[in-house]
Amino acid sequence: MNDATHPQPVPGPSTASDLKARARRVLAHLDAVLPNVDALYGDLHEHPELSGHEARTASEVAWRLEAEGYEVTRDVGGHGVVGLLRNGDGPTVLLRGDMDALPVEEKTGLPYASRVRTEDGEPVMHACGHDVHTACLVGTAAVLARSRDAWRGTVMVVGQPAEETLQGAKAMLDDGLYARFGTPDAVLGQHTAPLPVGTLMHREGVTMMGSAQVRVRLFGRGAHGAQPELSVDPVVLGASVVLRLQTIVSRELSPLEAAVVTVGHFQAGSRANVIPEEALLELTVRTEDDAVQARVLAAIERIAKGEAAAAGAPKPPQVEVLNRGPVNRNDPALLRRVRAAHEEWFGRAALVPGVLATASEDFPYFAQGPEHPVPIAYWFVGITPRKAWEAAPGATPLEKVAHLPGPHNGGYAPDRAGSLRMGCESLTVAALACLHVGDDSVEH
Ligand SMILES: [Zn+2]
Ligand SMILES: [Zn+2]
Repeated sequence: MNDATHPQPVPGPSTASDLKARARRVLAHLDAVLPNVDALYGDLHEHPELSGHEARTASEVAWRLEAEGYEVTRDVGGHGVVGLLRNGDGPTVLLRGDMDALPVEEKTGLPYASRVRTEDGEPVMHACGHDVHTACLVGTAAVLARSRDAWRGTVMVVGQPAEETLQGAKAMLDDGLYARFGTPDAVLGQHTAPLPVGTLMHREGVTMMGSAQVRVRLFGRGAHGAQPELSVDPVVLGASVVLRLQTIVSRELSPLEAAVVTVGHFQAGSRANVIPEEALLELTVRTEDDAVQARVLAAIERIAKGEAAAAGAPKPPQVEVLNRGPVNRNDPALLRRVRAAHEEWFGRAALVPGVLATASEDFPYFAQGPEHPVPIAYWFVGITPRKAWEAAPGATPLEKVAHLPGPHNGGYAPDRAGSLRMGCESLTVAALACLHVGDDSVEH
């Protein structure tokens, strides 16, 4: 797990004004790069690939990085792509973009909307903006490669697969990402958000909750629906488990310990007149703290077993944790450095106060260095077109966001030009805030 304290000081150079001068030099290349970024974005949006199937996307990323002079390695932890650009003494900065799409039907009506379906007929869409992340990752890689006299250090570009299943980051690390390519001094990642385009949001400390998925199988005894006295009814047992699970958040946790326990899947039986043998529950758990997550998981198991015993179930339930993602906790010093750089470049008005997201990410796995925690920083990039933002009802940003299509919605439609420019600039400026100053960078 990443920790607030770590032995390595966050690397980095420079005064803010120096950073602005360097950013100006590096981003002078952006106008030449943006048409390629836009073309890549349109291509990825029309050809989304589900988690674990990102072969085409990965190859589009890989050849573009090679063309800019990166040493590229393919198939790291599945379809992961790693591009290295060594440019003299200085810190290694990992830039991460996730590449996978979702089984969601696109309803944006855009001319470049996805019409892709899997062989099973399942619709596929970049409904989480990972096409923006990937295109901006490649754009940032290109402007840094074209301005090597303005910075020193190593840029490690990571195209990550399978974020939506919370598997890709861990798979890349397990495949030796840090052992093979070096442990970075800082890891930077960004995600689109339904905030107005041109804005950025940072949050110190935990920025996204940790998540876990749990499956509970409850065993009863089947019987004729007219003879309940011969049964142990798993439907009634399941219903009491669902109700008592609600008391974990309301009665077992402090009001200051943010958590969510949702039963998203409850399945039992198939006929009105048959009491079934089993009931199946699937839950998602979100917490702001990994220790709270452990307590919630223990409470789920205790409640399932206790209710089964109270019902006289023939055997105890099976409680299985299907996957677990840690909380996404920004390194305080690195986050402050990135936010200060963004404020310097974009101006204070572009920064939106940070809100804790109950959604989850596998990005925090990158904090798990082999010897010590690696500082990570993660922020949000607004993508909602200005007109749509102004038309959305509500007085506060949170009220407006509630009325706009967000990530995982078939109507999620980033402002194309504005989001791509903003995503490239925000990642480039953050990278420059961590890399060393180039030899001939001092200009006034
Ligand atoms: Zn997502
Ligand atoms: Zn996402």
